[in-house]
Order: sequence, then C-alpha cells, then structure tokens
Amino acid sequence: MAIQQAFVAPSILSADFAHLADEAAAVAGSDWLHVDVMDNHYVPNLTLGLPVVKSLKAATGIPLDCHLMIENPQRWAVGYAEAGAVNVSFHAETTDDPIAIAKDLRAAGSMAGLAIDRDTAVEPYLSLLSYFDTVLIMTIKAGFGGQAFMPELLAKVRTIRQAIDLDDLSIRLEVDGGINADTSSKPLPRPVRTPSWPGPPCSAPPIPPKPSAASAPWPSARSSSLRSRMGTSAGSPLTLLLTPT
Ligand code: ZN
Repeated sequence: MAIQQAFVAPSILSADFAHLADEAAAVAGSDWLHVDVMDNHYVPNLTLGLPVVKSLKAATGIPLDCHLMIENPQRWAVGYAEAGAVNVSFHAETTDDPIAIAKDLRAAGSMAGLAIDRDTAVEPYLSLLSYFDTVLIMTIKAGFGGQAFMPELLAKVRTIRQAIDLDDLSIRLEVDGGINADTSSKPLPRPVRTPSWPGPPCSAPPIPPKPSAASAPWPSARSSSLRSRMGTSAGSPLTLLLTPT
C-alpha cells in the first residue's frame, strides 16, 4: 500500500482567545487550523462565531477548518463557506437533510464536512459519503475540550475508512477529540494505521504560556516536521486534530 500524507490541524480550542492572530501565527506550517464553533444550544458551551472567523481569516493564511457544533446548520453553515473556510463540517445529528447542506457548502466554495458525534452510529451515513469531502469522527463527546480520548470509538473510524476505500472516494477523514502526544502514540487499528506520534516536539509550546488559567499549551507549531513523520495506509489522507488535555 502506498503511504499517504497525514495532515495536522491544531484546534483553536487550545488557544488564548484574546490573542487569536498571534496564536494562529504560532502554528504557521499547520495544514489547517481547526475552528470549533459552539453555540450553547447543540452543545452547552459557547465559543466563537462567524464574525470572529471572518477576522481570523483576514489574520492568517492557514486554511480554516470550521467544525460547527451548532443547531440549525442549514441556516448558518454557508456563511462560514462564504467567509473563506476551506472546510465546513456540521453535525449529522443536527439536520434531517445533510445532503442539501453539503450541496450548499460546495456551491459556496468550501469542502463539505459531515461530523459524527460520540453516540451516533456511522452506518446510516455510509450511503451519503459521496456528497462529502471530509468526515469528522469524534473520539470524545462534542462540546468540551479536555476530555480523554476514547479508543473504542476508533471502530467508527475503521468503518468509515473501509467505506471510503471501497468506493474509492476522495474524502479526508478527520479524528477529533483528545488527540495529543500521549494518545497519538497509541497506534490506531488497521487499516487507518496512524503512526506513532513523535512525542517531545508536541510537549514544547511554541509560545510562552499565558498567565491566564484558561490557557492551555498550544500544540506544536512544528507541523511540517510532524507531518513528515506520519502517514496513513492507502486511501484518502487522515487529519489529526490536536487538542490539549
Ligand atoms: Zn472539532
């Protein structure tokens, strides 16, 4: 099997929200910047919304990967595509018509992403995969940072991977939740085969720690180095979303 490139997308949940432009600059070299949008409805937490994403887009050249943990994505998702996000993922649990939203996102110029939460089975969505460019599998419960990675959810990653490969689809598979230096050192089950995490580089914050208790170490900026040491087996690339614990 040919080795495919893995992608690294640090999650903005790890950042100091008062210094987002600086935080984005600190992870220059990352493939994508993962932007977790929480609305205090679909999930209890509230993070940021479209105005902040627009400002962030103007402040960084890193492609923005918007993960919408929000209700009513049919109303809001397209705005993120129009703001210039490279990929917009909405949750399967939040709509009865994911295909329509996917079509709208593609028409607006972004990739269309389907996110699947911890307690949602992937099987009902396998027949819809051709409408999507990315699939995001939660390896925690959506809505909170700092949760422990749940390795049992990798069975869903395997199921999606097999479906992608079976139909030779061009879909980027994202693994989101509790990915850090420790959890990513544990090999994912075949055929995903995420290689071991390099380790030490991720433990070194690229910027000085902020005095705020809310700030957590921001994932390493050395994404290009990490990428070169990772790879997946055949199939579309795997994206690792990094969050602190
Ligand atoms: Zn996310």
